[in-house]
Amino acid sequence: MSFQTLGLGAELLRALSEAGYAEPTPIQAQAIPLVLEGRDLLAAAQTGTGKTAAFVLPILHRLASGHGHSPRALILVPTRELAAQVAESVDTYGRHLRLRSAVIFGGVGINPQIERLRRGVDLIVATPGRLLDHAKQRTVDLSGIETLVLDEADRMLDMGFIHDIRRLIGILPRQRQTLLFSATFSDPIRALAHNLLKQPATVEVTPRNTTAVQIAQRVHPVDKARKSALIAHLVHAGDWHQVLVFTRTKHGANRLADQLARAGIQTAAIHGNKSQNARTKALADFKSGQVRLLVATDIAARGIDIDRLPYVINHELPNVPEDYVHRIGRTGRAGSCGEAISLVSLDERPLLRDIQRLLRCDIPSSVIAGFEPGSAPLAGEQQTHPSPPRGRRPGQHPSPRSASDSVPGQRPRRSGNGRRPI
Ligand code: AMP
Repeated sequence: MSFQTLGLGAELLRALSEAGYAEPTPIQAQAIPLVLEGRDLLAAAQTGTGKTAAFVLPILHRLASGHGHSPRALILVPTRELAAQVAESVDTYGRHLRLRSAVIFGGVGINPQIERLRRGVDLIVATPGRLLDHAKQRTVDLSGIETLVLDEADRMLDMGFIHDIRRLIGILPRQRQTLLFSATFSDPIRALAHNLLKQPATVEVTPRNTTAVQIAQRVHPVDKARKSALIAHLVHAGDWHQVLVFTRTKHGANRLADQLARAGIQTAAIHGNKSQNARTKALADFKSGQVRLLVATDIAARGIDIDRLPYVINHELPNVPEDYVHRIGRTGRAGSCGEAISLVSLDERPLLRDIQRLLRCDIPSSVIAGFEPGSAPLAGEQQTHPSPPRGRRPGQHPSPRSASDSVPGQRPRRSGNGRRPI
């Protein structure tokens, strides 16, 4: 299968070859011909599957072969970060086309956006709230929209955007193509799809609510109070870089980032209370490797696109089991392996049970030596230099594996004191 056979124009093929894309991913192979045909689409795909190109490429192809005075394609996304990333993809794939795009989101000045829209654009990537502001002020004309994409629709509903979305859809032409992408299919998503899509084609690349196979998952039981010390230990002992750590709250993200920074790990935090500039900078520093560990809340992390993110750590388990699937979908992209590690304290065991029920499998669990639940920190232990795992000979260099007692997929070797079945 090649991009040529999918029916994309020469300018797009050139941009793809320059981007180093050898062949389409499964979602692209399935979705691109359908979108080119003009079909409505209901697509089940997580971040990391290449879903963005699956809608951006055929949209650019269609825009390139037509004319219009007002914007003709609208891509709605849940977060500012995702808007910026999708816009980046539009620029990359559309670099040999003469198309103009605008990215519209809140938290930044509205005037440059107004100016950009006034000069005329073919395609808009937007978060719903700010676009609605433009529509109310009549600084955007949505009457010429031919294709609408709802990207990460499940998250848009979770974030309470349904009213904004409905209002926006109310001012779009009825005669249009609609594409709905979602990682999960809850009843509200099905209802939305039923209302919006006309005889949609369905494409699905990962089985519903199951995790991608190349992600090694493991659980480390540990006391709540020792979680940050355990993260510092794992990162130091395994010499991990590009580690994304999820916390449940903004406050928790800040606190953890401080603790890990004090442990000598270059750390940044992103969450909804940070300014857009601070978030953009943190993400750029993380991508470039200047920041080794990024602490994020679920919403802030949604849509972060980093190739081959090797490690995801759940500082706490998410309250909603589906969020676990979203979180660990950040790792092991593009066919490479990734590890998803969850630190689970006693009170989180019911959450773990729910997650395992959703996945229909048990996640291998092992206690890290020195971090046994119920064991008090060693007297005088510093969080920055936790004691090495037991059984390591002096002078022996730690490896990611020696930091833990088990290899993912295998049963833990040790069953010493303090190991609690999870
Ligand atoms: P997405 O699922 O859209 O967030 O894309 C995940 C990552 O895969 C992005 O970094 C893309 O640049 C990359 N990607 C998308 N399609 C391809 C492809 N056909 N070949 C190689 N990489 C791709």
